[in-house]
Amino acid sequence: MSDVYDVAIIGGGILGLSSARHLLQQHPGLRVLVIEKDSEVAGQQTGHNSGVIHSGIYYRPGSLKAQFCVDGRNSIVDFCEQHEIAFERCGKLIMASHEEELPRMETLFERGKANGVEGLEMVGPERIAEIEPHVSAIKALWSPATAIVDFSAITREYAKQLTEAGGTLQLNTRVTGITPRADSVVIQTDQGEREARHLINCAGLHSDRIARLMGVEIDLQIVPFRGEYYTLRKEREHLVKGLIYPVPDPDLPFLGVHFTRNVKGYVEAGPNAVLATAREGYRKRDLNIRDFSETLGFPGFWRVAKREWKTGINEVNRSLRKSVFTHDLQKMIPEIVAGDLTTGGAGVRAQAVRRDGTLLDDFAIERTERAVHVLNAPSPGATSSLEIGKYIAGLAAESFSLGV
Ligand SMILES: Cc1cc2nc3c(=O)[nH]c(=O)nc-3n(C[C@H](O)[C@H](O)[C@H](O)COP(=O)(O)OP(=O)(O)OC[C@H]3O[C@@H](n4cnc5c(N)ncnc54)[C@H](O)[C@@H]3O)c2cc1C
Repeated sequence: MSDVYDVAIIGGGILGLSSARHLLQQHPGLRVLVIEKDSEVAGQQTGHNSGVIHSGIYYRPGSLKAQFCVDGRNSIVDFCEQHEIAFERCGKLIMASHEEELPRMETLFERGKANGVEGLEMVGPERIAEIEPHVSAIKALWSPATAIVDFSAITREYAKQLTEAGGTLQLNTRVTGITPRADSVVIQTDQGEREARHLINCAGLHSDRIARLMGVEIDLQIVPFRGEYYTLRKEREHLVKGLIYPVPDPDLPFLGVHFTRNVKGYVEAGPNAVLATAREGYRKRDLNIRDFSETLGFPGFWRVAKREWKTGINEVNRSLRKSVFTHDLQKMIPEIVAGDLTTGGAGVRAQAVRRDGTLLDDFAIERTERAVHVLNAPSPGATSSLEIGKYIAGLAAESFSLGV
């Protein structure tokens, strides 16, 4: 048998493994290799997120996010049922405390309806008190279809199905270079060379670098934004029944700090969105000189900084001062006090930014002759993973003439 794989996928996160699984389902016998630098799958964004199966409210109708999230919510719930992965339909409340938030909430309601979100309704104080008795709101959007899950467990199941179908998952292997040949690509790794006819780039926080290693000219760069969480003390968990979110700022791709109950039972508050000084900078003190100087040397970052400097300062202030974080949470649940919160984990978002300072909102998936590159896959990327994987496998089949 030749040592050349048909398709090599860089990244053992939820999207790389979903794509690999779909490729093998659609083309049994295909030689598929997934290369992951960490010692386990889902070690980066996938294993550090809020665990929410979003229902599809926020996204512009017609966008990839709207399409993949609504279908993805249904397919991931079916997948969990089929493979006995714990999930819970706890529902989500997006709440307004002030009159001026109502027009934005109305826009969200219209978007949700246009996207076909199941069971979405506008509710008043009486119904809010039944759903979340400790919340203070004048009106809210109630999405009963929103659920919670452990996305790492889903990713492990994708990995299991990949290997059962004959695919190869290579952990502890970092891609360091890529050399295109006439009819293949040679992938340099710290464990030696691999060769594949085609490549799929699902490298998350490093996806722009992988694209550039292939010589692809892209007009964007990943700027890492850390999302920090607090955990609610056990005795105060009763204050949150499900998921409680504020009305988000429409100019930013983040949802605002919120409360999320997770499948393990505890309640988290967050994530905020602070510039990270390392792409895998999960702690405030983490600094990677290469990562940070690339961010500072990127004109797109300075354009965002010029436009959003006030938001940036507020985010840093909230990150450094628990009292400010608590104050924002009190806008949703007035009973919360700083002593209820203990420092929790963090995730880092791979936010793609264009040179002109545009923060990419929608999923960005581009193809070249020998490759498909996932260049922006923020939330609801995990929710949408089965649909994105199917889409990527379809693009790959078309571009790479698989099975022909
Ligand atoms: C704080 C936070 C909260 C979120 N909340 C939600 C949520 O509630 N619901 C939701 O649907 N989505 C959520 N998301 C988004 C979701 O987590 C992502 O869309 C999804 O995990 C992206 O998956 P991925 O496979 O593209 O990336 P990743 O999980 O980051 O995987 C990329 C993989 O590539 C590997 N890799 C990178 N470079 C190399 C290399 N050179 N060689 C080998 N391997 C390499 C990495 O080690 C990593 O394992 C959240 C994200 C964050 C950060």
